[in-house]
Amino acid sequence: MSDKLHHPMPDRRTKKGKRLEESGPDPYVLHIVKQECELSLRNELYNLFYNWIGHSTWSLRSLIGSLELVDHSGQSITYFCSDGFLHPLHQDALNWMEDSVGKSAFSECKRQRVIVTVSGDEHDCAALKDYVTCAAPLYDSSGFYIGSLGLVVKTGQAWGLLETLLDSWILAVQQLSMHSQTDVTSHNLTRQVYRNERELRKWEILFQTTNKLHSQIDVNAVLSVVIDCIQELYPFVNLDLLLSQDYHSGSLPVKLLRFQQAENDICAKAFMEGRVFVQEDTLPEGIRRREIAAPLSGKQGVYGVLHLTYSRDTFDPAEISFITLLADAAGNAFENAKLYEHSNLLVDELRLINEMTQKLTQSLSLHEIFDFACRELTDIFKADYCSIMQTDDERQRLIVKASNFPPMYHEHLSMGTGFTGLVYESKEAVIVSDYQQNDYKPSKLMELSNSRSMMAAPVLGGGEVLGVILVVHRDPHYFSYDNFKLLQALCSHIGLAITNAALHAELQRLVIMDQLTGLYARHYLNTQVQEMQKKDFCGSLIVVDIDYFKQVNDTYGHQVGDRILMQVSDILATSIRETDIAARWGGEELAIYLPRVGKQQALRVAERIRERVMNETDPRVTVSCGVSDWFWEDDKISVESLFYKADMALYQAKHDGRNQIVMDQSRSLTS
Ligand code: GH3
Ligand code: MG
Ligand code: MG
Repeated sequence: MSDKLHHPMPDRRTKKGKRLEESGPDPYVLHIVKQECELSLRNELYNLFYNWIGHSTWSLRSLIGSLELVDHSGQSITYFCSDGFLHPLHQDALNWMEDSVGKSAFSECKRQRVIVTVSGDEHDCAALKDYVTCAAPLYDSSGFYIGSLGLVVKTGQAWGLLETLLDSWILAVQQLSMHSQTDVTSHNLTRQVYRNERELRKWEILFQTTNKLHSQIDVNAVLSVVIDCIQELYPFVNLDLLLSQDYHSGSLPVKLLRFQQAENDICAKAFMEGRVFVQEDTLPEGIRRREIAAPLSGKQGVYGVLHLTYSRDTFDPAEISFITLLADAAGNAFENAKLYEHSNLLVDELRLINEMTQKLTQSLSLHEIFDFACRELTDIFKADYCSIMQTDDERQRLIVKASNFPPMYHEHLSMGTGFTGLVYESKEAVIVSDYQQNDYKPSKLMELSNSRSMMAAPVLGGGEVLGVILVVHRDPHYFSYDNFKLLQALCSHIGLAITNAALHAELQRLVIMDQLTGLYARHYLNTQVQEMQKKDFCGSLIVVDIDYFKQVNDTYGHQVGDRILMQVSDILATSIRETDIAARWGGEELAIYLPRVGKQQALRVAERIRERVMNETDPRVTVSCGVSDWFWEDDKISVESLFYKADMALYQAKHDGRNQIVMDQSRSLTS
C-alpha cells in the first residue's frame, strides 16, 4: 500500500487537538494488521463496524443521527442511522471527501488527525448548514491512518457531548478489534501449528521414503514406494508414472512415455530437458487445473516422468520443490535398481552362455551339436519352435539339420529366397515382432507353424555363414530386445562349436586317410577289421599288389608311378560297396576288407579289379591279388592271421606269374 494513502499517525497529539503528556492515553489504534490492499482494509473496517453495532445496539439507542465510517481518503465505507434519520448526503454518493463537500469534521479530522467537531455554519456545503459533524481518526496496529469514524446530527442537539460520545464508542470498537484480533491470531496460530505439523510429517515421509528407496534393488518396488508416498501425501492428486521404456507391471499406474507431440507435452519436455515443468489451464467446465511433470533422473540419464494433475486450489505451489526432491530420490533409486537388474541379467546371461559353451564343446559331433543347440534355444527363450539350418555351399542351399517342428525336418531352403536367405546374405540377425503386421519376406517355418514372433540369426565361423538359426513363437511381440542380443551371443558360440567339430572331423579324416591315394590308412583298416571280427560271423580280405612297379618307376619316373598308384586306387574304390573298406596297405600294396562276405564273392570282386586295372590303367599295369577269409567257427580269428594268409596267397600269385588272384589255401584262378 502506498504511503500517499496512509500516513503514520502524528506522535504525542491529544485526541482533542492538545498535546499529550508522556503518560497520556493512546490514540484510536484499532487492532487491524496492515492489509495487502485497499479493498481488504475497507472490508476489515466494515466487518469491525457491524460487529460493534451488533454488540452495542443498546448504547446506540441514545443516538439521533448517523454514524459514518469513512476511509483514509474520505470515501464513505458505510453508515448507521437512527430510525428515520437522514441527512442530505445520504442521497448523494456518500462522499465526505473535501474536494466534494468542502470542510466537514471528516476533512478536518483527516488533516489534523484529532477528534474534531464542525458546526453547521462552518460547513462549506450548503446542505450541511443544519447539521453538526464530529469525526475521530482511526489507526491500524502499525500506526497508519486508515480512516475516520464520525457522527452527523441535526443542529440544536447537545453537540458539546458528541466528542465524548464518539470517544467512548471508538474505545468500544477498539476493544472489540482487540478481541477479534486475538481470535484471528489464535486461529492463525492453530493453522500455523497444523501447517508445521503437516510439513514435519511430510519431511518425515520423504525421509522414510528415501530410506526405503535406497534399500530397494527391485525396479517394481522402487516405483511402488514412490507411488505410495505421493498417494499418502496428496490423496487428491491424480498420479501417472511415465517410463521411457516399455515396462510391464499389472498393479502400478505405469504408462509408456510418448514423444509424438513433444512440444505440447510437458511430460516429454520434462524428460528431454531433465527439469520440472508446471502448466495451468482451465477445463471446459471452468475448473482450473494444474499439472506438474517432474523427471525421474539418475546420474546416467532420465528414466521417466512423474506426472501429477490436480485442481489448482488444492495444492500449495511450494509443494513443487518437495515433489522435485522426491522425483530426484526416486530417479536415483530407479537407476540403481535398473543397474542391479541389468547386472543380474548379465550374470545370468554369462552363466547361460558359459553352461551352453561347456556342453557344446563336450561334443565333437555336428549332429549332436545341432540337436543340443535346438533344444537349448527353445528352452532358454521359452520359444514354441526352433530350426537350425546348415549351409550347403556346393548346392547353394541351406539344409535343416535340427528342428522341433516335424514338417521342417530335412527341409532344403534355397539361399536367395525367404527369411533364411535374407539372413544368409546380409550376415545380420533379424527380429520380427509381428509377422502378420508387416510385409516381411516369407518364412516357411513361420507360415507352417502359424507363428507371429521370430528371431533369426546367422551362425558365423571364420567370417562365413555356416548356418542360420530361427527361433519363433505363436504370440506377437513375444521376444524382447535382450532376448535378441542373447541369441546373437549364443549363435557366435554355436558357430565356434560347429567350426570345432568340423575341424575335428577333418583332422580325424586326415588321420585315417592316405593322402596320395585317398584310400584309408592301414591302421584304420586294422582297427575296423578287429571291430568287425567281434560282431560279424565272417569277412574277406583282398591284398592287391602292382606287378613290376619298380620297373614302372624306373621307366616313367616316380610321378607317373604315383599317377598309376592313384588310378589303381580309384579302380579299387569304385569296384566295392559302401560297407567295404579299401586301404593303402603300404608302398604299392593295397587291401580291401569285405565285411560279411565269403571268399567266393571276394574272388569275384578281386577278379573285377584285376580286369579293370589291366584295361583301364595308362601306362598299363597289372595287379596280383591274394585273398583270405575268416569264419566265426575258425580256431584262430585275428587280423594278423587274416593278413598273413592273404599275403601268402599274394606271394603265391607273384610266384605263379603275376596278373592273377590266389586264394588262401593255394586255390588259384588264372586270368
Ligand atoms: P613285384 O611286386 O611284381 O614283385 O615287383 P615290384 O617291382 O612291384 O616289387 P618291389 O617290391 O621290388 O618294388 C616295389 C616298388 O614300388 C618299390 C618302390 O619304388 C615302388 N613304390 C612303393 N611305393 C611307391 C609310391 O608311393 N610311389 C611310387 N612311384 N613308387 C612306389
Ligand atoms: Mg609290386
Ligand atoms: Mg610290393
